[in-house]
Amino acid sequence: MGASEFRDSFATFVGPDRYRQFVRALNREGRWRGRLLFWQEELLARFAASAPYPNVGFERVEVWLRVCELHGAELAADPEAMSQRCRGAVTDFTRAGAERFPNTDCGPVVMGHRFDNFRRGLWYCPACRVAEADWLARHAEPRAAADRRPIGDS
Ligand SMILES: [Zn+2]
Repeated sequence: MGASEFRDSFATFVGPDRYRQFVRALNREGRWRGRLLFWQEELLARFAASAPYPNVGFERVEVWLRVCELHGAELAADPEAMSQRCRGAVTDFTRAGAERFPNTDCGPVVMGHRFDNFRRGLWYCPACRVAEADWLARHAEPRAAADRRPIGDS
């Protein structure tokens, strides 16, 4: 089974809302965690039992679901950008981001290490990056990007 076949079958099986939640969880914390959450594993197991699909784990699913749940775009790797585990305080920028460009940082390219707060190389959605640049240009708050700096280890 290939990535797009998996996405289509899985999305049809779990429904569009659950599918978005699944991908969202992967893009937010999943790559930092390096494993699936319990409810994700359960859902995958149900999916695998529903048809002659292999029951696949995080390593496979993470590759197949490198996609933006908002734009449907394939994630791209930026080897130089710093991925941040901790997001900053809620601001107009982060609120707009949650709505329009949630996936400017989908977690580190290199997984499987213990948590740290920054790691070089991140997955991102190209459409989210465009939307972010557009938002920043229109709001002309030169320091908005600095608001993304983490304020703690929470
Ligand atoms: Zn996107």
